[in-house]
Amino acid sequence: PSILSDLPELPLAESFALTEAYNLDTFPEKVNLGQGVYRDEECQSWVLPSVRSAEEFLHQQHLNHEYLPIPGAAPFIKEAQNLVFGPQLAQKENIRSVQTVAGTGANHLAALFCARYLRPKNVFISDPTWDNHQLIWETAGPGIERKLYPYYDPSTRSLHFDGMTAELENSAEENDVVILHACAHNPTGIDPTQTQWKKIAEIVAKKRLFVVFDSAYQGFASGDPDADAWAIRYFYSTFFGDASLSTSAIPAGMIVCQSFSKNFGLYGERIGALHLITPPSVSPWGAYTHLVRLIRSEISCPSLFGARCVHTILTDLDLRSKWIEDVKTMASRIQSVRTSLKSELENIGAQGDWDYIERQIGMFSYTGLSKIQVHRLKQVHHIYMLENGRMSLSGLNGNNVAYVARAIKDVVD
Ligand code: PMP
Repeated sequence: PSILSDLPELPLAESFALTEAYNLDTFPEKVNLGQGVYRDEECQSWVLPSVRSAEEFLHQQHLNHEYLPIPGAAPFIKEAQNLVFGPQLAQKENIRSVQTVAGTGANHLAALFCARYLRPKNVFISDPTWDNHQLIWETAGPGIERKLYPYYDPSTRSLHFDGMTAELENSAEENDVVILHACAHNPTGIDPTQTQWKKIAEIVAKKRLFVVFDSAYQGFASGDPDADAWAIRYFYSTFFGDASLSTSAIPAGMIVCQSFSKNFGLYGERIGALHLITPPSVSPWGAYTHLVRLIRSEISCPSLFGARCVHTILTDLDLRSKWIEDVKTMASRIQSVRTSLKSELENIGAQGDWDYIERQIGMFSYTGLSKIQVHRLKQVHHIYMLENGRMSLSGLNGNNVAYVARAIKDVVD
């Protein structure tokens, strides 16, 4: 018998399994609140008008399909940097960037790079988080201990700030990695305030931790890409923007994992970037060449279409302002869905305080519904959401919000 005969069958990742189950469900009023993908008011997939225009433009160019360089398309990478850091901070020598296979690929490359070259003892992951963080660090960073830091306080439905900072203060060691969600924390929809970010930055610098910012919702969260990048820009300009700062006062380094899946609606095109920020004691080019080597072994070089599309939009004044309108459209529809779900629940007298639905930000609502309640929503009402109570709000619209509110009332009352 082969050694592989002992491998047990593993379940499919939850959000993908939910979509499969939803697709097979024949109930007419079924609702998919599982996967984090944007849907319009008619519950349809939405190609951003700015992306449609870019597609048409690119089609007319009759472009070729040659390989990209190993680190990706330089013009795209430059714009990706500008979008994250803003034109004043971007294009600095100590920011070295590469194109990645979406946000997942950026997170994976970050884990590979850290495991191989930084060699931290621990990686600190928020509790709860996007479930793939655990899997990525398990597969790409064997030997690195995955530790959870408290993030969500169910009693107040807000950030567990004291728990988070105490855990980093007490348990993190120099060079340990801490993963921070840049905005629209998945799954809680709760972000630190600017004052709290400053305190987190202070701890990260004092303890000389290595920060991995996961930025999967820039623009999608608030409708303003600059506002959503505030935390990243604050960390960069405070610690790495001025080379004269003494190395003992700054973090061990920083990586930003950037996804264009949600904010450009380019989910299946798999387009993203990784930005590595090195402290003054480290050669940015040395570190960069090691990233490039990892890319060569993993994918040889990244793919073309998403990079062309994002670059076209960000460098054309008209398309860029069209795109800003598009992210505002998505952010404001989600916000209005928050308001209508909350009002529906209040109007029908569902037990509980539903204000939190409007306070949270981004694609999700972290409902606090129990596993049993979530299961009942699926079995009885054909409403699909993650077991941890995370609901993707984009699946809601004017036609189904009353149905979903009644179903929630049924399971909580
Ligand atoms: N990080 C977080 C926090 C996410 O929510 C997501 C998308 N669900 C990603 C990264 C990666 O998404 P993608 O690989 O599709 O760009």
